[in-house]
Amino acid sequence: MIRYALHCKACDEDFEAWFASSSAYETLKEKRQVRCSACNSSRVEKQIMAPAVKSPKKKDAAADPEKMFAAFAEKARQHVAENFDYVGGDFAEEARSMFYGEQEERPIWGETTEEEREALKEEGVPAAPLPEPFTPPVPKPKGQLN
Ligand SMILES: [Zn+2]
Repeated sequence: MIRYALHCKACDEDFEAWFASSSAYETLKEKRQVRCSACNSSRVEKQIMAPAVKSPKKKDAAADPEKMFAAFAEKARQHVAENFDYVGGDFAEEARSMFYGEQEERPIWGETTEEEREALKEEGVPAAPLPEPFTPPVPKPKGQLN
């Protein structure tokens, strides 16, 4: 047995009917014995059936942890680049002098050596390494004198 979804072109009725086989349907159709269940018209045709395939869910970019992290890192990088002063190799010196109140505190970023990092830690100077994806590109030195 085979079930077909049928459509009546006379009255627009959609209905289903069972046939012994697809060839049985064809035979009955030729003999105009496939009739509409509503108006008994023989102007009946098989409905074009869309295959019942579940459409794969679109991958949500926001739900992708890797992309989320990349977007977050990009924001952090921008924030540092826009709001922090790049002090390069003077970081330890600058951080220390701010910590001891020798100059006004401001957000800075730069490089330290392993030794400097340890020294800052021992002195209790707040400094945290920027994970690489958060590190903005080093600004080009402005108007070098020599
Ligand atoms: Zn009909």
